[in-house]
Amino acid sequence: MKFVRFNNEGTPACAVVEGDNLQEIKGDIFSEYEILHTNISLHAVKLLPPCVPSKIIAIGLNYRSHAQELSMKIPEEPLLFMKPSTAVIGPMEPIRYPAMSRRIDYEGELGVVIGKSCRCVSIEDAPRYVLGYTCFNDVTARDLQKRDGQFTRSKSFDSFAPIGPYIETDLDPHNVLVETVLNGEKRQSAFTSDLIFPVYYLVSFISHVMTLWPGDVIATGTPSGIGPMQVGDVVEVIIEGIGTLKNRVVKEAP
Ligand code: MG
Repeated sequence: MKFVRFNNEGTPACAVVEGDNLQEIKGDIFSEYEILHTNISLHAVKLLPPCVPSKIIAIGLNYRSHAQELSMKIPEEPLLFMKPSTAVIGPMEPIRYPAMSRRIDYEGELGVVIGKSCRCVSIEDAPRYVLGYTCFNDVTARDLQKRDGQFTRSKSFDSFAPIGPYIETDLDPHNVLVETVLNGEKRQSAFTSDLIFPVYYLVSFISHVMTLWPGDVIATGTPSGIGPMQVGDVVEVIIEGIGTLKNRVVKEAP
């Protein structure tokens, strides 16, 4: 099943995608709901980020190919950092190039959407706490990341966390193709089988650090092929079985 959020005449609403139609949901996708037969055209509405995370937990250096590309040692445990909820934008919303940076990069990633509150769960139990999967772009001000020596500023500008377009609930996260396309040209392409720490391991590991809430997102790391974006560029994160998350880069308004 594919969940979306959309602007329903000024009010955020949730729906299930069926072909080109949206069947609106009454209730809460994280607990109880009913699917109505509204048949709203998918192309007639503005899509919103498919969830509203209280926090985004991201993983640095989680693809073998990327670690090799950077000649870095395979990490022994996941390197966690966070992006704030204020960075979230939806499909087709602009990524705003901050005046403070001279280099911003795309990082196409598989996003895990938590379905139920969880703390200290085992790897075996982790699947029960996942609602589904989405496309994520971990936009990064690379120059500021290097200059600061830690990640908060470089990962946290408003609009640096595009999410969407859907949450796909029926997906085996262990061998999906994650691709990033910049201005129509493929830049990243890798299967999640190349992840050093796979999805359920990450859910368990992070839940031993902090309580995960419904709607929280884990950004699972980016493969090799990262690179810069310029004002006017169009970036797409494409994940097999989920869809395409497309955003354009614009100059930050003064
Ligand atoms: Mg990343």
